[in-house]
Amino acid sequence: MKNRFDTREAREFVAARPGCSEHLALRIYTSRLLGRESDLVLHGGGNTSVKDLTPNLFGEKMEVLYIKGSGWDLGRIEAAGFPALDLAWLRRLRVLETLSDEEMVNQFRTHMLDATAPNPSIETLVHAFLPHRFIDHTHADAIVALTHLPEPETRLREALGDNIGILPFIMPGFPLAQAMAQLYEARPEIEAVILLQHGIFTFADQAQTAYDRMIAYVTRAEHYLAAAAPAAPPRPAGPAEAAAPDPVRWLPLLRGALSFEQEGAGRRYFSLELRQKPELLAALARPGARELLVSGVLTPDHVIRTKNYPLFLDPAAAGPAPAEPELAALVKSAVSAYEQDYRAYFQRWSSRAAEAKTILDPRPRVILVPGLGLIGAGFSPRDAAIAADIAEHTILTKQQGAVLGPYQDLAEEHIFAMEYWSLEQAKLGKGQPAPLAGRVALVTGGGGAMAVGIAAKLLAAGARVFLSDIDAGRLATVAAKLRPRFGATLVDTVLMDVSAEDSVKAGLAEIVRRAGGLDILVPNAGIALVARLEELTTADLARVMAVNCLGVFTVIKQAVPIFRRQNYGGQIIINSSKNVFDPGAAFGAYSASKAAAHQLGKIAALELAEIGVRVNMINADGVFDADGVSSGLWDVVGPERMEARKLDPAGLRDYYRNRNLLKATVLAEHVGNAVVFFAAGLTPTTGATLPVDGGIPAAFPR
Ligand code: ZN
Repeated sequence: MKNRFDTREAREFVAARPGCSEHLALRIYTSRLLGRESDLVLHGGGNTSVKDLTPNLFGEKMEVLYIKGSGWDLGRIEAAGFPALDLAWLRRLRVLETLSDEEMVNQFRTHMLDATAPNPSIETLVHAFLPHRFIDHTHADAIVALTHLPEPETRLREALGDNIGILPFIMPGFPLAQAMAQLYEARPEIEAVILLQHGIFTFADQAQTAYDRMIAYVTRAEHYLAAAAPAAPPRPAGPAEAAAPDPVRWLPLLRGALSFEQEGAGRRYFSLELRQKPELLAALARPGARELLVSGVLTPDHVIRTKNYPLFLDPAAAGPAPAEPELAALVKSAVSAYEQDYRAYFQRWSSRAAEAKTILDPRPRVILVPGLGLIGAGFSPRDAAIAADIAEHTILTKQQGAVLGPYQDLAEEHIFAMEYWSLEQAKLGKGQPAPLAGRVALVTGGGGAMAVGIAAKLLAAGARVFLSDIDAGRLATVAAKLRPRFGATLVDTVLMDVSAEDSVKAGLAEIVRRAGGLDILVPNAGIALVARLEELTTADLARVMAVNCLGVFTVIKQAVPIFRRQNYGGQIIINSSKNVFDPGAAFGAYSASKAAAHQLGKIAALELAEIGVRVNMINADGVFDADGVSSGLWDVVGPERMEARKLDPAGLRDYYRNRNLLKATVLAEHVGNAVVFFAAGLTPTTGATLPVDGGIPAAFPR
């Protein structure tokens, strides 16, 4: 592992932070160096500290411990991520016989210098009881790989030498802090402590030395593993490439099998993240992959993200070329077997726990499918990606260690104690998920004003939104408006021409590959044309029909297989038009194509009810722009429509506002609200039309 400490960079880093003491600034600097290495820490893992003097309100110098706060990532940490605690007080806690986790956290919170700072790490007392100024702690892959081998002490001494202390697994918190302090006091010459099946601590009085020691020990472990590695990786024994499982079939089946009804929270939807790196596919295809990889976490922190075991799903179990129903049955039974095992594990350990525990949902968070890849699962795209990141490191680390011996799991009781830690349990049931959390939506015509309003409301309700359009430039503009508000993981785009079946197929396949499936389809793409029938060319009519009518047909038709595979229903919400009930002269192509699409929507409602898919229509009128994005439709037809009505084009908005009963300006976000209403499935409604037009009697649905 590369040592990234750069003396000049460190000096500049300190100089750029005049508000920080030099010690704290260096602490931030080397913490970020550690956090940047995914082989050391992942997603909030690991922690670092520094002991320093700081003046209190009376001007007296006070000894404090700055320790990483929970919710901060080492790679991006700032001074605000290091709550300061009264170090003298923390040291006094050492005389106690026992200290519960709840009381320990209470002591932390009541001895912080800033009451608004984040909770200090659960490993705070380890840092407080050791005397060194700088302490670094990571869950380095290469180190933990050695600690999961049989006779880990022998391996660690061979790999790392004698200047280390080794501790068996001890729960983080007061007992670990006591054990670490005793170990150090008995052998003050040690430079590092390895916690079996957990990670490594290094320490020193200089920031650079503590960091150097971390990198040096991890590098030695890496060399030790590399020396044992075979010259060529084992040959895959898995399916031939031609038979590789198709993600477009597999992922929706998996989403369907994972999703469940939660009491009081409605249906919970899973985000999936597929990883297909060649080295992962090779690891999944190696002989004995199931035995090696269906084993426990590398470090107990991970259990919150990945659960202890992945689900290993071998496609070969369904025969060489399984039909869809066999495949669906295979996926379903594998997920339910996993759930049963998980419930049994919960029963086994909760019955021995001192206090009552509430079971977490028993679905897997990591699914391994030889030939397909690794799939991270979670209630949000972020959770799914975190599970996938951890699983990637876990698979490759286990594979490296396997050369030296079988992988030894951390005992189940410790896993249970982490997963069902009382402070984590206390957070359960607080905060309802957003109404559309975990759902995947597609809004076609994604480059226009209407899509901005619809997408913003879907995103605000928690959905992940794909915008599709034929115009990459307009798509990029809309995405750039939405991403700062809702985050890049929730706003995605795909180029797609709704009037071309192949393009729609490819677009939907891409969405399934990236998100796992589709729950909410909003056919919204539309074009318009002003021409009286006697002037309207057949070619122009066909062009408008191809987008407004066939486009709606094609996206619905191509989405149905996804809904069927997920097997839990879905929502189709067609952005129709007020013109369906109240057409206008010189607007025949638009009105007729919209009316045809509207009718297709009703047919879809009739046909798809049996698979729980609801189809509803929104009839809006006169939506011009949203958030600075113009409506492509109105850009084209607005002025012409006004000419057709013998009105001044500038008076267009007022004309549309004044012609409705409520004298309302209709906005894209109003349409978005209506989409969210249908998408949330709050009423048992399908085949319905909801006007969003301020009230136009001639367009009342009938
Ligand atoms: Zn740790």
